[in-house]
Amino acid sequence: MTNGLTIGCHLSTSKGYEAMGKTAVEIGATTFAFFTRNPRGGKGKAPDEADVQALLRLMEEHHFGKLVAHAPYTMNMCSAKPDVVAYTREAFASDIERMEQLPGNYLNFHPGSHLKQGADEGIRLIVEGLNQDLIPGQKTIVLLETMAGKGTEVGRSFEELERIIEGVEHDELLGVCLDTCHVNDAGYDIAHDLDGVLDEFDRVIGLDRLCALHVNDSKNPLGAHKDRHEKIGQGTLGLAAFQAIVTNPRTKDLPMILETPNELPGYSREIAALRALSEGRSLAEAEELLEEPEEPEPAEQKKAAESKE
Ligand code: FE
Ligand code: FE
Ligand code: ZN
Repeated sequence: MTNGLTIGCHLSTSKGYEAMGKTAVEIGATTFAFFTRNPRGGKGKAPDEADVQALLRLMEEHHFGKLVAHAPYTMNMCSAKPDVVAYTREAFASDIERMEQLPGNYLNFHPGSHLKQGADEGIRLIVEGLNQDLIPGQKTIVLLETMAGKGTEVGRSFEELERIIEGVEHDELLGVCLDTCHVNDAGYDIAHDLDGVLDEFDRVIGLDRLCALHVNDSKNPLGAHKDRHEKIGQGTLGLAAFQAIVTNPRTKDLPMILETPNELPGYSREIAALRALSEGRSLAEAEELLEEPEEPEPAEQKKAAESKE
């Protein structure tokens, strides 16, 4: 049974798990993303069991879909520095362990940057890291994120992701999170040919691996290899591209995470607009829902304006 789109945004863990769930409900979300630890590295604190239970109850009550946690950007499974590789493997293993407290959800990560060692060596290191970290029978599915191909990023093509999956022994624990900004920047024309991109994904990886979406517009043109996210409808993808995504039978039921440059009110508007499109409402209606309210005039200026009248 579905409850409309499963959609949300990235939330701060600073007030704990239940607090994230409450924020999600307030903005109309039915999933969310969070960093498993400080994105700039360091140790994540072990979640408090009562807080975890409170979140699980809230998620059930509000018919949430699967959560899509994000490993920190500082991890690099295929760094040229052995100490970074060792840190990443250790941190990722403990993140998997932590996610097992919220069983059945997703843990997404950037495969890594090979730093001029070449994609082959990068892929070899990523495979070795995953083979070391994945625990047979774990309840968390690990997602490889499609990357924009900035610098030496691995995962810039569906082929590279497939080569990682093929190398991993427990590949039943792996899936893919497709980032719409990243695939556009990588050269897949998701804005004009969603079905063509999904066919290609199916041919190379298999659509059964497609588990979640990062829904972001892009500041850059197709194939720019840049990775700069834009608000929904304000970038090179455009609102119609997202209308296609939220109505296509192959994508509409996947958990969707917004990583657009917004604060909570902006996310709330994007969620409302994408829900409206998924229910068959027009682009014009969705555009209206996306409209930012005019900034309330600061009290001082208002007084000055009034006195002039
Ligand atoms: Fe990401
Ligand atoms: Fe992303
Ligand atoms: Zn990105």
